This record gives sequence, structure tokens and C-alpha cells, in this order.
Amino acid sequence: MGTHEAKCHQCGYTAEFWDPLRSYEMPDGAFVTIQKTFVWCAACREVRWGEELPELAALEHELGATKAREPSAMEELSLLVGKYRTLEEVLTDREQELEERVAWRRVRTSGPRCLECGTTDLVPLVFSEIRSGNDKWTLAEHPGCGGRITARELPALTLDRRWIYYTPEGQKKQAYQMSPSKGAVPIDE
Ligand SMILES: [Zn+2]
Ligand SMILES: [Zn+2]
Repeated sequence: MGTHEAKCHQCGYTAEFWDPLRSYEMPDGAFVTIQKTFVWCAACREVRWGEELPELAALEHELGATKAREPSAMEELSLLVGKYRTLEEVLTDREQELEERVAWRRVRTSGPRCLECGTTDLVPLVFSEIRSGNDKWTLAEHPGCGGRITARELPALTLDRRWIYYTPEGQKKQAYQMSPSKGAVPIDE
């Protein structure tokens, strides 16, 4: 069983998904985690994971707030403080992560892509969280059918150990299986 499933409430369409780690690999070797959502891909003719592209201004604002140690940024990150990490360490990590994300967003030119085939011909599903930890996405009209498609998170117990690298433009490069003993092993994906 995967981590998410989609189904159409009119026809028999169903799809199952896993949730591997996906990152942009930057020319300087930095990895930026891909923000994703469900989309209807016109090329795959399937519900797929697709990119969600944040606005550059929003990322820059968040970076500025973190650098300035604004209360709003500190409050959110204080939840991550634990036995082994001080608030200052959490803030420094977050600052670096945001700097890398801003650098990626500045060079990114195309619209959001399907994370399977790379097309930009897609319709995002509408995200809603009905309860915490119970995410849900909706597409009002299944193309060619007209029924409503919903995707939801499943209570998954299995950890997905795949890590997929993408170009900064959102095109798939290589997938790896992460193994504690062998490290990253390239796989077909
Ligand atoms: Zn349908
Ligand atoms: Zn596709």
C-alpha cells in the first residue's frame, strides 16, 4: 500500500502513490527539496505528483524574517528545538536552506511540471486539510469523465527510501534507493 491514493467518484479511476524524497540538484551541489502537490497531468492522463512553485518574493520575505530573527520566524522554528539543537542552530540551518531555495527560485524559468513526465500541461488539484495529518486534494472535473477526483493521504507504515534528483527546471535526472549499508544506489524509475 502506498502513502496516498486518488479516486474518481464517477468512473472506476484509481491511482496509488508513494512519497519519495525529491530534490533539485543545483550546479553548486546544493540540494533543494521539491515542494509538491497533486496535479492532473494532460500528458500522462493521470493524477501525478507535480511541482508547487513558491513565489520568489515570499521566499525572500521569509529569508529576511529569519535573518532578522523576527518573532514570527522564531515562533515557528522553536518547535524544532530539542535536546541536540539550540534555537540558534535551527535558525542558522533554516537560513541556509532558504538561501539555497531563493537561489534556485531565481534561476527557475518554466511553470510547474509533472514530476513524472516533465510536462507543464497540468491542472493542480485543490488542497485542503480536513484534519491535521489528513491531507486531501480535489479536482472538480475528471477530464473526459466529468466526475470529481479526490486524493488523500493514507496511514502508511512503510518508509519510502527513494531519493529522486531533478534539474532546477524540474526535469527528472536519476532515482536512487537509499540504503543504510550501501548508500545511494541508482535505480530505474
Ligand atoms: Zn472519472
Ligand atoms: Zn506527466
